Amino acid sequence: MKGFAMLRIGEVGWIEKEKPSPGPYDAIIKPLAVAPCTSDIHTVFEGGIGERHNMILGHEAVGEVVEVGEKVEDFKPGDRVVVPAITPDWRTLEAQQGNHQHSGGMLAGWKFSNIKDGVFAEYFHVNDADMNLALLPEEIPLESAVMIPDMVTTGFHGAELADIKLGDTVAVLGIGPVGLMAVAGAKLRGAGRIIVVGSRPVCVDAAKFYGATDIVNYKNGDIVDQILDLTDGKGVDATIIAGGPAKIVTTAVKITKPGGAVSNINYFGEGENLPIPRAEWGCGMAHKTIKGGLCPGGRFRMEKLVELVKHDRIDPGKMATHVFKGLDKVEEALLLMKDKPRDLIKPVVVIE
Ligand code: NDP
Ligand code: ZN
Repeated sequence: MKGFAMLRIGEVGWIEKEKPSPGPYDAIIKPLAVAPCTSDIHTVFEGGIGERHNMILGHEAVGEVVEVGEKVEDFKPGDRVVVPAITPDWRTLEAQQGNHQHSGGMLAGWKFSNIKDGVFAEYFHVNDADMNLALLPEEIPLESAVMIPDMVTTGFHGAELADIKLGDTVAVLGIGPVGLMAVAGAKLRGAGRIIVVGSRPVCVDAAKFYGATDIVNYKNGDIVDQILDLTDGKGVDATIIAGGPAKIVTTAVKITKPGGAVSNINYFGEGENLPIPRAEWGCGMAHKTIKGGLCPGGRFRMEKLVELVKHDRIDPGKMATHVFKGLDKVEEALLLMKDKPRDLIKPVVVIE
């Protein structure tokens, strides 16, 4: 089979590999729609997680089951499924402890395009199919469904880590597809005011659609000054970081009130350290919590997010600004994610 791969840091291309086969609990999936992620860009072009050779890229897919192992009970060939970006080993102590993203080691629940071949191929392998797949209802269009495995779960995780309470003022730094889903998640959790930071007009319009109340353009001046101005110098209850370079962590701490939370869902691809500002962190005593997390995966999470889309609580398909047809288009779609043209939110490749 063919797949689109990271050949080494800085280089991508098509390669041929053996079609994978399932272990007793696993499934083999044929993708129906896939999407490239900014994380693929950090991994390939910044070497964010280190060197990888001939590793098929991609971790965002919905697909059709083509083969299952003899112990798989709930899925069969022909089923249409949502495949989470994070497919943990559920029989691990980390998963039992509640850290499924880190089952088997830090970030090891993230397998596709990290520690094994990803979804940009004619077929791909899913471990523990019964615990990692979710059925895709007919009524959800593929462009919407393919946002669930990563964009929706990541953005919502940003809102969860920020521990948003009813009526909170929230800042979302970055309104690419991940930040947009953080906006939608913050609104669903009951945020009052949602101040967003970005510059691309298409993203600003989408942010308003998903629930932003105030827009800050980081190209028009310092983010801290602009957000403190908007909040009478007080800052926000919670800040979600979904874009920007390492120094965005400084910004986030500065704009968050004492007792508030900074929730990071960014993938920082470069540099040794992330800068926490000493004085605005109350010399270490401001009770400003800083958390960062990999998106939740697994079947239970996917089923819950499917419910939100199915019952029109969110409409993530609106982010699909560029829809391509055919697996061979993943190369073009991935490079769009690297170049980020002004009219782009998220490219999707429909294979069906
Ligand atoms: P995008 O590149 O599409 O969006 C980034 C956003 O950040 C844009 O709105 C951009 O503004 C804004 N931005 C850029 N520079 C600055 C700056 N200096 N200050 C403030 N804002 C800035 O990225 P995605 O939405 O696709 O992904 C966001 C991050 O999430 C990536 O790092 C990605 O790897 C990561 N990620 C993490 C996951 C997890 O599990 N935690 C899962 C998936 C992705 P502009 O409008 O100018 O473009
Ligand atoms: Zn991703």
